[in-house]
Amino acid sequence: MILQKSALFRQECFIDGEWLSSPDLLEVIDPSSQRLVGTVPSLGEMETRKAISAAHKAFPAWKTHTAKERSVLLKKWYELIICHARDLAEIMSREQGKPLAEAQREVMSCAAYVEWFAEEAKRVYGDTIPMAQKGKRIVVLKEPIGVCAAITPWNFPLSTIARKAAPALAAGCTVIVKPSSYTPFSALALAVLAEEAGFPPGTLNVITGQAETIGRILTSDRLVKKISFTGSTEVGRILMKDSSESLKKISLELGGHAPFIVFDDADIELAVSEAMISKFRNSGQTCVCANRFLIQNPIYEQFAEHFVRLVRNQLVVGPGMHMESNQGPLIDEKAVLKVENQIRDALEKGAKLAIGGKRLPGKGFFFEPTVLTEVTSEMAIAHEETFGPVAPLFRFKDEEEALRIANDSEYGLAAYFFSKDLARAWRMTENLECGMIGVNTGILSSEAAPFGGTKDSGMGREGSKYGIEEYLELKYMCIGGLERM
Ligand code: ADP
Repeated sequence: MILQKSALFRQECFIDGEWLSSPDLLEVIDPSSQRLVGTVPSLGEMETRKAISAAHKAFPAWKTHTAKERSVLLKKWYELIICHARDLAEIMSREQGKPLAEAQREVMSCAAYVEWFAEEAKRVYGDTIPMAQKGKRIVVLKEPIGVCAAITPWNFPLSTIARKAAPALAAGCTVIVKPSSYTPFSALALAVLAEEAGFPPGTLNVITGQAETIGRILTSDRLVKKISFTGSTEVGRILMKDSSESLKKISLELGGHAPFIVFDDADIELAVSEAMISKFRNSGQTCVCANRFLIQNPIYEQFAEHFVRLVRNQLVVGPGMHMESNQGPLIDEKAVLKVENQIRDALEKGAKLAIGGKRLPGKGFFFEPTVLTEVTSEMAIAHEETFGPVAPLFRFKDEEEALRIANDSEYGLAAYFFSKDLARAWRMTENLECGMIGVNTGILSSEAAPFGGTKDSGMGREGSKYGIEEYLELKYMCIGGLERM
């Protein structure tokens, strides 16, 4: 890897302001070539406790920094992220596989969250509340919750960290980040820049290692006050259960199975081009990806033809570091098998293959962008999250049926629909069971919006003015005796 700042590629963990190695190592594999990218320490119970105690020790001083002082450090971190965007993108592309241009966009999104919360740090306003009794007043304070643990996934190795660590630090909390073992180098590079920005030792710690062991300690230790997790619903359940003994505050951003509904009054050209981004961004490996395309009968063929044409003409599969690729590999062999199984099951039950359908021969976990038509609710793909470049096209008759199919899912993260009818847009928005809705758009993430879901997609919101609340506790002060003074 040729970086402008080679120190950003760090194969050690960051605890209490110090870099730490270990004789036990985890290997990180490039999903494009299946070659080794590097190794990181495989830390266990002792080091996890060390990180918790460092964060606990750093908390009292960090919380008494003024909001402005915390904001200035976050701003500095933001500037360093922007300054090293190219290197960060390369590290990410190597370990995660996504095309360099897409990795660069993620770096900018990561930076945007850090900048946003640098600003929000200064706007943690409390309240005064009128009271029924004379001579008394209620004042509400907002205080940082304490040591926070952030457990993050591989599909967005930088921005998922920024969405958690930036609001936590802005609120005055200290943080321990446990990134995915597939993508630790992006997280460690962020720690290098945090150190350079000048955060005091222990305020931000990054540990890598056995997920179950680290997870068990973070959830059970009473010094950790908050767990924020992004990943699978299965692991989210484990973390919530394990946190119950110590009653931690929890945010969970879990799986999704987003419907993408196109009504016959929609701008079809717009719907198709948004469908391309919504489905094939990160090769379909995002929790808000369009997973189920519901197309109204009269426009079904027209939509399918146009969509397949764009898939054929626009998508180029290849290693993320090749300038012409816009579809990188899937993360591992398991991901390829899952996609293969869903396609096989759908074809056996009567779906038609419009394009794609196979993995690419040779090294790397590459899979052809795939479109299936005549998909029905009997097929596994109708209910399981796909996390790959497969677009299944369902039919529907009317709004009522579209809504029924869309809500027939355990998940409730994102939904998209396309229509020019304003009354329908309101009806759909009010009746779809999910946390985020795109109306005539296939992309809705923004640092200014509250990202998160309902049902099995989890709880809590990230980004926006709401995101910082997850890291704050309310405390109210009731002042009496005022009529006697
Ligand atoms: P995905 O790999 O689909 O993103 P996972 O839920 O498997 O989703 O992983 C998300 C994050 O959770 C990663 O950092 C992973 O290492 C971590 N993780 C996986 N299993 C556990 C566990 N039992 N306890 C704590 N963390 C876990």
